[in-house]
Amino acid sequence: MLKDVILDAPGKKVFLLGNEAIARGAIEAGIDVFSAYPGTPSSEITDTLNAACSYLRDRMEYRMEYAVNEKVAFEVAIGASLAGKRGMTAMKHVGLNVAADPLFSFAYVGARGGFVCVSADDPSMHSSQNEQDNRWYGIAAKVPVVEPSSVNEAKEITKDAFELSEKFSLPFILRSYTRLSHSSGVVELGEIPYKKIEKVEWERHPETDVVLPAHARRLKPKLQEKMKKLEDYFNGWKYNWVDEGDGKKGLIACGMSYNYAKEAMEYLGLEYPVLKLSSMNPLPRKLITDFLANLDEVLVVEEVDPVVEMQVRVMAAEFGVRVHGKMDGYLPENYEYNVSVVQEGIARLAGKDFDYSRYLSAATELVKIAPPRPPVLCPGCPHTAVFYAIRKVVNETGRAALPSDIGCYTLGINKPLEGVDITICMGASAGSSNGLSYVLSNPIIATIGDSTFFHTGIPPLINAVYNGNKFVLVVLDNSTTGMTGHQPHPGVDVKGCGEKADSIRIEDVCRALGVKFVEVVHSYNLRAVEDSLKRALNHDGVAVIVAKQPCAILWTRERKRKGIKIRSFEITDDCRECMKCVNEFTCPAIYIQEGKPEIDPALCVGCGVCASVCPYRAVRAAR
Ligand code: SF4
Ligand code: SF4
Repeated sequence: MLKDVILDAPGKKVFLLGNEAIARGAIEAGIDVFSAYPGTPSSEITDTLNAACSYLRDRMEYRMEYAVNEKVAFEVAIGASLAGKRGMTAMKHVGLNVAADPLFSFAYVGARGGFVCVSADDPSMHSSQNEQDNRWYGIAAKVPVVEPSSVNEAKEITKDAFELSEKFSLPFILRSYTRLSHSSGVVELGEIPYKKIEKVEWERHPETDVVLPAHARRLKPKLQEKMKKLEDYFNGWKYNWVDEGDGKKGLIACGMSYNYAKEAMEYLGLEYPVLKLSSMNPLPRKLITDFLANLDEVLVVEEVDPVVEMQVRVMAAEFGVRVHGKMDGYLPENYEYNVSVVQEGIARLAGKDFDYSRYLSAATELVKIAPPRPPVLCPGCPHTAVFYAIRKVVNETGRAALPSDIGCYTLGINKPLEGVDITICMGASAGSSNGLSYVLSNPIIATIGDSTFFHTGIPPLINAVYNGNKFVLVVLDNSTTGMTGHQPHPGVDVKGCGEKADSIRIEDVCRALGVKFVEVVHSYNLRAVEDSLKRALNHDGVAVIVAKQPCAILWTRERKRKGIKIRSFEITDDCRECMKCVNEFTCPAIYIQEGKPEIDPALCVGCGVCASVCPYRAVRAAR
């Protein structure tokens, strides 16, 4: 909780979410600049630092911002680091793909003030488009990766990473993952430093900071030397350790998997020696080989890819130690681990029976009795109205390609709206529409959110204008970054720490880019959206429609704050039970009772879109 994150009570033990613990670690480390684009499962780090900064201002000052995308956030933190200040950024795993360009180059430059990038992986893809192991980035970019194994370690390792970043002049990646970011645990608080952001004089270091080829050629061996020194350090790092045990079989357990492994061994009544690792790159080779030297067999437990296992196999060859893990099927290659999954692998190592499928079939039975709850857009969501209008126009005009993007609106894929045909990554709705326009004879209607428009939607629009490509881009402008928890973006009038901002209007940006067809419509006005779509489809070139209406959650909250009564809608006796509102519009507030549609007043937000859907004027505002 925020009150515990900002609590000035060193030594006190509090209960924090993993992401709050990372935020607290950054505060205790005295960060100067934090910049991020929200993305699950990393978002609460940003939101916590956003909420904390105004409370801590008199004690520990730092600059916090919501960046337009992860690459920009990464570069903002680089700026702080190169000026000798502590810079930090946080993103979900796919965010690091966006920030990969500065990551690889900054590794050569090296950190001056401590630099930490939190990359939150999402094993099992709870809220992501892929299951990506970002430890590879550390290996590929020659950047250290550290991985906490508990909520308390998340705080401590965040703090330590800043210190090590300065000591070795290297940017650090702190790898978190859903299960760590979103679980709670006991954290022992350290001290919050007294500090102001003091501006410093710029000192030039072009020989390191300008990665022109001659400099980069010299910097690469230096980077390798730094990594070698860090590896030596990691051999004795306090977050890598060996738990002594019995026998000639052992485990190497990475990050959170350490807890699964320990608990699984307890259930199985085993006490194998365990090497617990929190430095994922570089691996502490000496520590590992010393551990292997006493063993015949070892099981490597890690999520997501066999990153450590592959390297351990090479090291183990020298000792004739047999290595097990994902690569030989002792542990599954896909999805998140838990105690039972790991228990099955350890049981196999021990030659014991453990039938995990029994537990799985019990879980399958439980799932059967749980009511089906497919993810749906909220009642009154402005996206539903726009997708309804798009579906109507497409049904009238014939087949169309409907690329979309990453956000709540991806749920527009569901029947009967079926407004989403393609979702690849942030900004790819407009990007892929460029390619589709070269090869399709059908119309293309792409959808993108307002936050995503600013994130990576602008460059593909420039591409479309420059190349004269023809498609319709509908910006679903709900005045927020809805899916990750309502963070602001450049289109709204608030910044990080709640400061006022001069918002940037999407329609103005589009016109400035040279888009000749730009119209702004109200998302709830179905007729206006449909008419605009038809005009846009007739436009010879890229056309942008900005469909505006705040997210239903924000809209409801705002009306309640202002004391405005929310009038729900009701279905009158004029209803002819045609079921258009149920089968075609699918607002979750409309349900069927005794064969007739009804509106649940507890869910209805009073948008009234269903009234314009009904052909018999049978829906009206409740009296
Ligand atoms: S959170 Fe807002 S934008 Fe997302 S589905 Fe709900 S109403 Fe729509
Ligand atoms: S669309 Fe109108 S007439 Fe048809 S079921 Fe709904 S409320 Fe009744």
